[in-house]
Amino acid sequence: MQDYLKKKGRIFDIQRYSIHDGNGIRTIVFLKGCVLRCRWCCNPESQSYEIQTMMVQGRPKIVGRDVTVEEVMEIVEKDRAYYRRTGGGITLSGGESLCQPEFSTALLKAAKESGISTAMESMGCAEWEIIDGLLPYLDQYLLDIKHMNPRKHKEYTGRSNELMLENAMKIARSGKTELSIRIPVIPGFNDTTEEIRDIAAYTKQLPNVKRIHLLPYHRLGQDKYEGLGRTYLMGDVPPPENNKMEELLKTAGEISGIECQIGG
Ligand code: SF4
Repeated sequence: MQDYLKKKGRIFDIQRYSIHDGNGIRTIVFLKGCVLRCRWCCNPESQSYEIQTMMVQGRPKIVGRDVTVEEVMEIVEKDRAYYRRTGGGITLSGGESLCQPEFSTALLKAAKESGISTAMESMGCAEWEIIDGLLPYLDQYLLDIKHMNPRKHKEYTGRSNELMLENAMKIARSGKTELSIRIPVIPGFNDTTEEIRDIAAYTKQLPNVKRIHLLPYHRLGQDKYEGLGRTYLMGDVPPPENNKMEELLKTAGEISGIECQIGG
């Protein structure tokens, strides 16, 4: 057996038949661990690398398990026929997959070697060498850009944005992977035309961007905070209205000149 198939990583879920996280029908592997703490995060159980207990509908649920690349690939392989018909494959998500660089790289490599298309959702918050090391095995990068203002980025996510923006440019310039930019639209954080315009203007400077996705804030993760004994910092903030999203979509399209869509 190839050594990289024995590589171990920590995940908290695998979801089959997803149609919102890359091209075609996909299997999503959710990795544990993230360097950000976005206030709106809908997967708070992804943030800590530690294995946790979360209360779900009054019952304790263990979140997180250690698996090998080979074990994950056994599940991913089950839907090979769907991938072939729809142009789908495997998507790494999280958390931030770059927090487990060796496991992520080995998993992408294993998929590529067995002829399965690869994608990754990530905000690019890692040393460039790590990203550069996995690009040869990555067909599609779904890269988050959340805000252009470093101070506001830090206030709402816990980290400034310089490294992520720098990496966005390097990924785009490499031309090694299909690149889509994802903007989570969060009320009170970045949901003004000015803020979306600034992100769209930066995205316009990135070569080879195929599409921009505007992802409307939703409250689906709210109960998980309670289950983890944490406070949901978004309070009662409602999701953005459809007409607001349409307005921001128009702005993003006009400024960037890139095809834009609402949703993944
Ligand atoms: S980057 Fe994603 S996974 Fe990490 S805290 Fe933010 S929303 Fe959650």
